[in-house]
Amino acid sequence: MKKIYYLLLIVLLLTGCVLNLVTGRKQLSLINDSELRLMAVGQYNTFLTENKVLRSNSNRDAAMVDRIGARIASAITKYYDSEGKESVLAGYAWEFNTIDDKKVINAWCMPGGKVVVYTGLLPVTQNETALAVVMGHEIAHSIAKHGNERMSQAMVQQLGGMALEIALAQKPKETQDLFMMSYGIGSEVGAMLPWSRQQETEADQYGLIFSAMAGYDPREAIPFWQRMSAAGGTKPPEFLSTHPSDETRLRKIKQFMPEALKYYTSRN
Ligand SMILES: [Zn+2]
Repeated sequence: MKKIYYLLLIVLLLTGCVLNLVTGRKQLSLINDSELRLMAVGQYNTFLTENKVLRSNSNRDAAMVDRIGARIASAITKYYDSEGKESVLAGYAWEFNTIDDKKVINAWCMPGGKVVVYTGLLPVTQNETALAVVMGHEIAHSIAKHGNERMSQAMVQQLGGMALEIALAQKPKETQDLFMMSYGIGSEVGAMLPWSRQQETEADQYGLIFSAMAGYDPREAIPFWQRMSAAGGTKPPEFLSTHPSDETRLRKIKQFMPEALKYYTSRN
């Protein structure tokens, strides 16, 4: 019985790999993207009711988050359309929200373009360009489908490769927790897994390109990551526990810079 189970699991892993249109890398994708987007809508709306959301018509920081989000979303939609890769952003219904919580240094993007920035991040970004670099990075995780990859791995490891709708019906709490963890969202830092090095590298590479396409200077990424490292200290912020900042990251960011700058035209 056990043998058959493992055999099935191997078949699942072999057939569950899909070529990613953004990165050109084959990745594990056992969950339908439309199911994940649907789940994201529910989780995002619940999250927003449980946290203090700042309104962009009365708060300058929220207006800035909105402005950056709209610029990046429009620039990448135009780009992937022009490349004949409309499917990259199919089903996206962008939403950008700013959460008033100065203790949380974090930002994330759920499937379908559901973005959150916490006010705790703003003293580290310090300016609109650096925040655009961070939002570009989080959006890159989303459209490179890193969350699906992580969630698929978690479903295999923890739920034996159960289909998402069955898992949601039979183990709703566990499945929702896996979802939040897969997207780097959580109130407890200890429960969160860092993104893999490969996923981080891809998010840095495409995040720089996306912020450049939106008219934000990608070179701002270097001082930003240096400031983020320094913000570490004894109790690292959530963002650092999911996005370790080290020499390797900075070295790769510098390597990606010439490519990103090809897409950059200053707004000034
Ligand atoms: Zn990341």
